[in-house]
Amino acid sequence: MKTEKELRTCDKGHNYYKSSDCPTCPTCEQERKPESGFLSLLSAPARRALEHNGIQSLQQLSSYSEKEILQFHGIGPASLPTLRTALKEYGLSFKN
Ligand SMILES: [Zn+2]
Repeated sequence: MKTEKELRTCDKGHNYYKSSDCPTCPTCEQERKPESGFLSLLSAPARRALEHNGIQSLQQLSSYSEKEILQFHGIGPASLPTLRTALKEYGLSFKN
């Protein structure tokens, strides 16, 4: 018995084939991960501090230096190793 794969297009216009009725687009799934992923590692105050400053992705985070990040209300030095590791995982780093 062969599995029927159906061509689908997601909201963002990515084309993909899925055999199940799972509606998740693999491209969007990939793009979404770094964003929600690193924020969920943080404490609530640290997460709010980043979101308050418009940082929702690692790409945005990497445009700040550690010094700048520490000035955000809610971010302590304890949050830095987590952020540093998250950035490194995606080949990014804090601004120098
Ligand atoms: Zn998509």
